[in-house]
Amino acid sequence: MKTLTPASSALQGAEAKPFWTSGANAPENLASLEAHTSCDLAIVGGGLTGLWAGIEAKIENPDLDVVILESQQIAFGASGRNGGFFSESLTHGLAHGLSLWPKEIDTLLRLGRENVSEIFKFLDSEKINAEQNFCGKSVMALRPHHVKELEASFKQLLKYGENVEFLDGEETRKDIDSPTYLASLRIHDGSGILDPAKLSWGLRQSAIARGVRIYEMTRVTGLSKSRTSVLLHTAHGIVTANKVILATNAFHPLLRRMRNMAIPVFDHVLVTEQLSQAQLDSIGWKQNQGVTDAGNQFHYYRRTPDNRILWGGYDAIYYKGSQRDISPERYAPSHELLAEQFFQTFPQLEGLNFTNKWAGMIDTTSRFTPVIGRAFGGKVAYAFGYTGLGVTSSRFGAKVALDFIANRESELTQLALVARKPIPFPPEPIRSLLVSKTRASLAREDIDGKRGPWLGLLDRMGVGFNS
Ligand SMILES: Cc1cc2nc3c(=O)[nH]c(=O)nc-3n(C[C@H](O)[C@H](O)[C@H](O)COP(=O)(O)OP(=O)(O)OC[C@H]3O[C@@H](n4cnc5c(N)ncnc54)[C@H](O)[C@@H]3O)c2cc1C
Repeated sequence: MKTLTPASSALQGAEAKPFWTSGANAPENLASLEAHTSCDLAIVGGGLTGLWAGIEAKIENPDLDVVILESQQIAFGASGRNGGFFSESLTHGLAHGLSLWPKEIDTLLRLGRENVSEIFKFLDSEKINAEQNFCGKSVMALRPHHVKELEASFKQLLKYGENVEFLDGEETRKDIDSPTYLASLRIHDGSGILDPAKLSWGLRQSAIARGVRIYEMTRVTGLSKSRTSVLLHTAHGIVTANKVILATNAFHPLLRRMRNMAIPVFDHVLVTEQLSQAQLDSIGWKQNQGVTDAGNQFHYYRRTPDNRILWGGYDAIYYKGSQRDISPERYAPSHELLAEQFFQTFPQLEGLNFTNKWAGMIDTTSRFTPVIGRAFGGKVAYAFGYTGLGVTSSRFGAKVALDFIANRESELTQLALVARKPIPFPPEPIRSLLVSKTRASLAREDIDGKRGPWLGLLDRMGVGFNS
């Protein structure tokens, strides 16, 4: 009989479903569309982008008739599967923003701060408890070259007035105990963690209370134009809308022009059983902050309010042809790898089991920042491509999309981040080859700390991470 490794053994009882949405507090399903209908604004997709678009549209004009069409349930997609890290950054970090939009960075930083502050003000006013914790985050150096990179980030963040600390190895391990840590950057403000399902379900309730009609299990199969409206086709009937917002993230795009703007990359996540007091004491982690590694292929991890650890990332996988219909069996090697790496990071937790394992699609653009634009002569807007940082920037995407369909020139629509679209991905088979080459180069840089000619070229083209 084959003996199980500690990682395989820890995964044995794990259910293949997202931890956040599988709790007992999930709301009742909403009815699907049953007949043709019409509305002022139809939103396709009931994740955070779609929910914010619906709510903000109603805040602007309470009389607007707004419909959300969701192919499964609210928060079925990335919005119910993510790590729950929230951030003020609209640019995937300061260094990345500075390298792409140096002239706009102060505006982008301000808009990001305002976005997060308005989100939490809204949650307070609606009494939505998303278990938000403004605990900041730590970035861990696991290799000597990470230490130098974190020192450079530390100086850059200080220059921009951020509340940051640089901790050496001993100080880091005193804070959170792992033999893998060589140093860390502790970022105190502007970020934290929350429960993404509670956030989505809270917004769902606010949308319904404002009169937004939400139809679940209602997939939009295509769009077409009539003389004055946009028609959304579903198996249950046609929705005739004056305006449309597409909030379909990494799922199959409904517009041809969206196909090359983002690719679906599968990201994998595990959640452990609850830790005992002795296990908690063995890791410290008293400030509960979110944690990421400093590498390109990085883990992100955090504690949950009921003292589990969510552990995800590292092994992001693109399937040739932008395949989206991937069976859970295909994720198994990534979950095994994640479990092994978990026990390398926290060997003192050997024997701890995982209760949940899942994967989700990350809508990755070549610039790692969202694409927000318009089509059908301004009747349709789309917002997607947050590339793994959409828990709070999805509201920014929704607000820009609302400006677009209202035909409003605003501070948001004029941003270069919005006006200039990222470089599109080439078609297959070149797409797969480029993704593999980039992935291998990023993995090499993680080992030797050298950027290499391929990543250097991509940096000069404004593609991917420059940080
Ligand atoms: C594993 C993972 C971890 C992540 N971790 C973080 C994190 O810690 N912090 C962070 O900021 N971001 C994170 N992200 C990214 C973040 O979750 C997303 O950017 C954000 O949730 C995007 O929200 P959305 O509404 O645009 O997309 P989604 O939540 O994916 O919603 C899109 C919805 O559209 C529906 N849909 C698609 N096509 C149709 C159609 N034709 N008809 C009807 N409905 C349709 C889908 O069913 C889905 O519900 C993570 C993502 C993943 C996958």
